[in-house]
Amino acid sequence: MIIVLRPDAGEAQIDFIQTKLEARGLQTRVIAGAERSVVAVIGTGLPDPREVSFFPGVSEVIRVSRPYKLASREVVPTTSTVTVGPVTLGGSQLVVIAGPCSVESREGLLLAARQVYESGASMLRAGAFKPRTSPYAFQGMGEEGLKILAEARDQFGLPIVTEVMSIAQVELVGRYADVLQIGARNMQNFDLLKAVGQAGRPVLLKRGLAATIEELLMAAEYILSGDRQARVILCERGIRTFESSTRNTLDLSAIPVIRSLSHLPVVADPSHGTGHRGYVPAMALAAAAAGADGLMIEMHPNPPEAVSDGAQSLYPAELSRLMRDLAVIAPVVGRQVEGRSRRLPPASRPVQVRGEGLTVALQGETGSFSEKAARQFFGPDLELRSFAAFSEVFLALASGQVAYAVVPVENSLTGSIHVNYDQLLEYPELAIVGELKVRVVHNLLANPGVELSDIRRVYSHPQAAAQCDQFLRSHPEWQVVSMYDTAGSARVVKEQGMLDAAGIASLEAAENLGMVVLASSIETHPQNFTRFVVLARQGPAADDYDKLSLVLETEHTPGALYRSLGIFAESGLNLVKLESRPIPGTPWTYRFYLDLEAPPDRSVLEEALGRLVGSLPFVRILGRYRSAELA
Ligand code: PEP
Ligand code: MN
Repeated sequence: MIIVLRPDAGEAQIDFIQTKLEARGLQTRVIAGAERSVVAVIGTGLPDPREVSFFPGVSEVIRVSRPYKLASREVVPTTSTVTVGPVTLGGSQLVVIAGPCSVESREGLLLAARQVYESGASMLRAGAFKPRTSPYAFQGMGEEGLKILAEARDQFGLPIVTEVMSIAQVELVGRYADVLQIGARNMQNFDLLKAVGQAGRPVLLKRGLAATIEELLMAAEYILSGDRQARVILCERGIRTFESSTRNTLDLSAIPVIRSLSHLPVVADPSHGTGHRGYVPAMALAAAAAGADGLMIEMHPNPPEAVSDGAQSLYPAELSRLMRDLAVIAPVVGRQVEGRSRRLPPASRPVQVRGEGLTVALQGETGSFSEKAARQFFGPDLELRSFAAFSEVFLALASGQVAYAVVPVENSLTGSIHVNYDQLLEYPELAIVGELKVRVVHNLLANPGVELSDIRRVYSHPQAAAQCDQFLRSHPEWQVVSMYDTAGSARVVKEQGMLDAAGIASLEAAENLGMVVLASSIETHPQNFTRFVVLARQGPAADDYDKLSLVLETEHTPGALYRSLGIFAESGLNLVKLESRPIPGTPWTYRFYLDLEAPPDRSVLEEALGRLVGSLPFVRILGRYRSAELA
């Protein structure tokens, strides 16, 4: 039974409810949510819901039809997040957990961890205790393996996931691991489930070989009911069917089904799901498209030599390739692969700014695409500072009011956002430390009751209006009114109760403001991405940068630009963007903005830059950072 509390329900009322129900031998659990708080009631002999609805502070009583309660979406309507070190599962990050099936040796595991780190995956997996079908097969390295895993975590900053097979191992594995894995064979080992639920670590629960989704959720319920702090990540790893071409049948439909039934994050394991490395990338991409919160992928430095599951383990290069493809697919489903803070240089990692936490400046208000970008990049627990103008964002960062800023620089339909390039030049003390692409879907939002035929005016950010040009041109009778941000244009329509106007903004803004969507996906082309850059005050660049942005001015002589670009050509460097901008105050003269790929041997790039700096009147490096355009 779920008791939905009234927004004004206080502690005394909640206490009353709990005391009453617990006196009947029932268990209660208060779950405080952003939108509503509920009391979940578990046990046999539930009271009549009508009686409970008269308790103080109660808004509604729902009988839960499903046998699982704490795992149910009826109890927690929004997807829960599970944060492990720098990684958050269940948010906008698509978390990739990669590594060998087993820890085989110290050297082998540290090498694998390096390869996982370099691929861009954000967690490391490997078993120290292995559930093998044959008692004569390798059973794992035990505690020695756990120590090696802990060493790899310390060296690469990758949280580790490893399996625990018995109650006797829970305490030991919990000492080393960040996430405890319950393997498919133990999904219904109920005593073990209860024990891991109380171990104080998140649990990655794999679906049993022949388990239904309901049985998986019941298993999660065992873990959750043991301790109110318990956190569970579900894992679809393939089930037994009559199909014999693959080791198991990866049940991709389980992802949206679980999503609708449960609030728990879900990851997919296409390695055990198919048992064949050739099929892993396709199923990994499909799982991402199906909405998985993460992927668990087996990778081995040399799969043919692996002591377990070599046939389904990717080669390191295949994992890197897959990460690039995932980075392309993820934004389409509103996610990103890059881990928060992974791509930031050490000096500008989440620092304490004036005694505060991770503060990020952006332009626009709640529901803006800048907010979406910032949350995608930094994860959920950041403190946002909104400003009306981009110039204020730059000033806030330069003056040390915030640790980072996130600003848009380019849109795939409408081109560069020049004002931010110009601002970058005004603040030589700031640098680009990261970038990301956000898919932008626009909607026409209005007040409830308003219909499309009522509209006379449309409030929009000029960028958004430009991206929806085709749609707006199909309504020439509408007047388009410019606003400073997308969410803000919808808010004005809402706050002023306009009945003849609409705003162009995101679905998030519609939800936040309680507005209706008159027309959805109105951008001219679905491939509408905005590239944002993450800015910080200058510090040492991340050592894993693969992209560099710079600005240069040449002499006003024949062949000057040709000679500058020649330096890159001679060094075999790939230019990914070149754009000219007028130099303010000197009409008909231009400066050039360039983005370059940094090759693995950075010295080639640095040597070319040295030559460039020596030959031009003005060169400024805007930043060295990890690219979002991995493909
Ligand atoms: C594993 O992840 O290595 C493993 C043994 O998986 P499963 O329990 O899904 O077979
Ligand atoms: Mn395995």
